[in-house]
Amino acid sequence: MILILMGPPGAGKGTQARMLEERHGLVQLSTGDMLRAAIAAGTEIGKQAKAVMDRGELVSDDIMVEIIAARISEDDCANGFILDGFPRTPAQAEALDRMFVDKGFEIGSVVEITVNEDALVERISGRFTCAHCGEGYHDAFKRPKTDGICDMCGGTDFTRRPDDNAETVRRRLGEYHRQTAPILPYYRDKGLLRQVDGMAGIDAVARQIEEVLEAA
Ligand code: ADP
Ligand code: ADP
Ligand code: ZN
Repeated sequence: MILILMGPPGAGKGTQARMLEERHGLVQLSTGDMLRAAIAAGTEIGKQAKAVMDRGELVSDDIMVEIIAARISEDDCANGFILDGFPRTPAQAEALDRMFVDKGFEIGSVVEITVNEDALVERISGRFTCAHCGEGYHDAFKRPKTDGICDMCGGTDFTRRPDDNAETVRRRLGEYHRQTAPILPYYRDKGLLRQVDGMAGIDAVARQIEEVLEAA
């Protein structure tokens, strides 16, 4: 099964992708995580991407398409995957379709997680992540069971993203409306788009996504 999660920054794509990974054994492909790993590793792509990401703009389609094409060719993607953060422009959506034709892959569903703008800013400003395993948390909505200790791996180091500040968040939301939202009609016309109410709690959103998958 191949699932695409869409929605503005902070909507809960990463949170839901990790839960789906656990429940269904699908691999989570987060292009944001891949870029942050490239930055941490000091690769050429990482160097190019860092300034763009810090400004809250989008990394070029060429780089992103190359990254995702390489990643979906790896063995662990053969049984299905969840795209979290890709495609983000109509050109990326079209490139993905061409890749899928070549590989004989088919999109199962495109799930749009809808959340209103005030809630997005609140979610992003409270977001933090386990530095060891990448599990996502929130100051108010998803605290670790024991403060300071990751539920998943017992790690005690957490990070906050440099681009999760109020000014950059506004820029990222602008980019979402300008460049990413125009993809939605593309998938709607193909009969693939399903919306879930992302204002609900984390488990309630997960249940809505399960319903979409059952109906697909
Ligand atoms: P995205 O990947 O779409 O940018 P995340 O999954 O990282 O979003 O979620 C953003 C923040 O909001 C995280 O801190 C996460 O714990 C929290 N969060 C995710 N889903 C919900 C939800 N349904 N209700 C409240 N908080 C949520
Ligand atoms: P969010 O929490 O906003 O959903 P991500 O972790 O998905 O953030 O992405 C962080 C940043 O990485 C984006 O603001 C953008 O600069 C870059 N990025 C990630 N995926 C893509 C993509 N498919 N195309 C262009 N830029 C991307
Ligand atoms: Zn952890």
